Amino acid sequence: MNPTFAPSQTFADLGLAPELLRSLADEGYASPTPIQAAAIPQVLAGRDLFGCAQTGTGKTAAFALPLIQRLRADARKPGPRRCRTLVLAPTRELAAQIYESFVAYGRHAQLTAAVIYGGVGQHRQAKAMLPGVDVLVATPGRLLDLINQRLVDIRSVEYLVLDEADRMLDMGFIHDMRRIVAMLPEQRQTLFFSATLPTAVRELADTMLRDPLEVKTTPRSTPAETVEQSVYFVPKREKKPLLIRLLQEEATGRVIVFARTKHGADKLQRDLTKAGITTAAIHGNKSQSQRERALAAFKSTQPPVLIATDIAARGIDVDEVAHVINYELPHEPETYVHRIGRTGRAGQTGAAVSFCDHDEQPRLVAIERLLRRPIPARNDRSAAPEPAAADSPGTSRHRRRPARAGSSAHAGNRARRSSGAAGKRPRRSPPATPADRVAGGSRAAPPAIPPAAANSGRSRRHRRAL
Ligand code: AMP
Repeated sequence: MNPTFAPSQTFADLGLAPELLRSLADEGYASPTPIQAAAIPQVLAGRDLFGCAQTGTGKTAAFALPLIQRLRADARKPGPRRCRTLVLAPTRELAAQIYESFVAYGRHAQLTAAVIYGGVGQHRQAKAMLPGVDVLVATPGRLLDLINQRLVDIRSVEYLVLDEADRMLDMGFIHDMRRIVAMLPEQRQTLFFSATLPTAVRELADTMLRDPLEVKTTPRSTPAETVEQSVYFVPKREKKPLLIRLLQEEATGRVIVFARTKHGADKLQRDLTKAGITTAAIHGNKSQSQRERALAAFKSTQPPVLIATDIAARGIDVDEVAHVINYELPHEPETYVHRIGRTGRAGQTGAAVSFCDHDEQPRLVAIERLLRRPIPARNDRSAAPEPAAADSPGTSRHRRRPARAGSSAHAGNRARRSSGAAGKRPRRSPPATPADRVAGGSRAAPPAIPPAAANSGRSRRHRRAL
């Protein structure tokens, strides 16, 4: 059974109006997710909400549907430049997606909505706000800009939604957020969402919410159960060929590769392009139109491999992301949870593969501590030796590399290719036990890197490179 859904209830059971049920039918949503089942009746009743939920749990509909219904139940005009609902989101991509969700769910309810974010001209955004709107979705910086220019007025907001509060704090929006909240009427309904619950998020929620209903869809910082996680221990310099091989042989569907820096993302894009792999990149140095083009290509039926940095990838809402590859592990363990939340969404299954070099091992430990369980390893920790050992003269890479023959990953890849089952996940090497990992591999380990396809020219070249 799919753990993401609560199929015993219907949207009609939750008290949603017929025009919303029509939109949900248009969207093809058959039954509410747990957060929707828990939140919708309470938000309809006017209660504040504190939701601990990752992306992919259906949280956008959990707040958008009941708010649209409340707006319609009391259909007053917002007044010029004003909005009745304010939704704050950390990134422009997420803001745009939330806006699109409101438009989709409100299409039979005469809802008016606007979205404002930085990085593009403000003229169209200010114009959209002129008559006033039911729902304004905004990133904090641009919103404050437009408020200061008196192009937006938030003094009569009735409903406030704060989405991805943890990310807002990570991105340094705390002061902007406090300034915005100080301008809002005290009398309002507030819905607060965060994927993780560090103390700072709790404290912020306490200042903004009154007797909230608390909804937790997953235990603290637990990634969606539909994501199959694994880690490769791999020296830095072998990451690139491993990535190329994974992309060629295993991760052939819609894939996001996470790099830590914009520079790293650009370099990776150049390297993959050289290897004949079609890519698109999305990071902070890309213009809004470049990001939109990259996302549109990624949503298409022939998606390029999307190379992303954390901030840019925040809130990418694309169904059927089959693989997330962490080319580098993030410094903050929570970021890992956000990253892998890009896959395994709303009932799909997904795989998250991480590369861990020697220097990154403390980061892996922190992630596993947060998850409260080890991430299954595809090979042995000793496959990512200390840089000094790796570079010492006379230690050939060839000799250090464990034997390849008979690898279950190889067999899995071969089976997958020959059966032509494009969507199926290949068999995996058995995960190393925590004991194996601590011991640094005293037992025989599965191969560090899955072997190349025996008779492909490109694969042979990569095998040499390894
Ligand atoms: P979210 O957690 O809001 O980012 O939603 C993740 C994805 O799940 C989006 O693509 C939604 O369109 C989809 N979704 C949300 N609710 C449902 C539902 N009840 N049934 C099917 N898909 C849903």
